[in-house]
Order: sequence, then structure tokens, then C-alpha cells
Amino acid sequence: MLLMDGLLNFSRSYLPDKRGGQMDAPLVLTSRIDPNEVDKEAHNIDVLFQYPLPFYEATLTYTHPKDIVKIMDTVSGRLGTPAQYEGMGFTHDTTDIAAGPRNSAYKTLGTMIEKMDAQLALARRIKAVDPQDVAERVIESHFLPDLIGNLRSFSKQKVRCTKCNAKYRRPPLRGTCPKCGGNIVLTVHEGSVKKYLETSLRIADEYNVRHYTKQRLELLELEMKSLFESDKVKQKGLADFM
Ligand SMILES: [Zn+2]
Repeated sequence: MLLMDGLLNFSRSYLPDKRGGQMDAPLVLTSRIDPNEVDKEAHNIDVLFQYPLPFYEATLTYTHPKDIVKIMDTVSGRLGTPAQYEGMGFTHDTTDIAAGPRNSAYKTLGTMIEKMDAQLALARRIKAVDPQDVAERVIESHFLPDLIGNLRSFSKQKVRCTKCNAKYRRPPLRGTCPKCGGNIVLTVHEGSVKKYLETSLRIADEYNVRHYTKQRLELLELEMKSLFESDKVKQKGLADFM
């Protein structure tokens, strides 16, 4: 029945034409599975019921995994023999193969900041993890692209009429909606652009990330200041002169 579904209910025209659209799509149907032909990663699974002592000793000297693979009985060593299909061991028993968290922390934690703080708290607790590297990666792969992207979309944004909701690619010169005379407002706001700037700077400081990353953040901060803060009109407090 399931096989027929792949044959009857499928067409290439159903696939999204975006990047990754062909991922996991049933483009090839295999009638006989040869373990030799499945993904290489699957060959690296160890199928022992118990790890030998030399394995633990090797971890202490940071031995390269390749050097002890012979004593670990991986799937790759069983290919082409009947053992490739049966008698595979495991180290921890379970009563339910589907057991596990029903809801990931990614969903139970609310804001992006909470998620990141949780990730960093975990990084600090695990000895094998370098918290500075984690902070670095979060900034480089999430916060920086986000900040840069938002800054760009702020300067390329459309404006909107509050009365009739008409959108304009550029602010009309007359300052009001040409259709109904209503107020014209921005569609991207300062707050959403600066959203993660403070946090990024704090994390960069707390975890002492590379100078290069820090400077990229500082440059962004400067760019945002030049965009949002008027050089002429600047509110000053008394304290500024003391
Ligand atoms: Zn309008």
C-alpha cells in the first residue's frame, strides 16, 4: 500500500521549486536494500553490546577514532556477511523505542533570548563544549545576518497608509496618502532592526569572542546610530555636561 502511494500519488510537479525542494522526495524507489549502498554514515554505527576497556583508555589520550575502529565492531566491518542484517548490539535498553521528549525546549522557551541563554548555560556546564565558541557561532550565524538583514530591509522598506492601508514603494512627496490623504507610516520599525543588537553586544562581551566578531558588531552599532539618531537634534540630559 505504502509503495503504491509513492507510485500513484507522486509527480515531480508537486515538488517545491525552491532550494531543497527535492530533499526527501521519493525520486528513486529501491526494491531491495543493500546495506553496502546506504549512506556512509550508517556504516559508522557501532553495534557492540558493551564497549571494551581499550576504548575508554583511548579516549583519555585523544586517539583518533580511525585508530580504534577495528575494536569497535561497526556496521562497515559486517558488510557483505549475514551479520549485516542481524545480531546488532546496543548499550542502553528502552521500554519504548518512541520514548523521548514530546516537546523540545525550542518550543517551551519563549523568546529568542531565552533560547540562547539556555543554550549557553548548557555550553558552560558541558566540559567538552567551549562556551566561547558557541557564543561566537550564535552571533556569526544568527545575530549578525539578522541585524544586517533588518538594517537592509529598513532602508529598502515600503511605507503604508494608516487609513486605507495602501502601500507605496517610496514615501509620497506630499507626505500624506495620495489616495485618501491619510497618514503615512513605516512598515519596518527601528525596534525590530535593533532587536538583537544589545544582546549580541552583551554576549560578545561576556564570552569574550574574537576581536573580528566584536568589531563587526560595533560597526553595525555605528551604522544603526547613523541611521536612527539625528546628528542635529539630540536630546541631552544635564548629566551629559557634568
Ligand atoms: Zn490612504
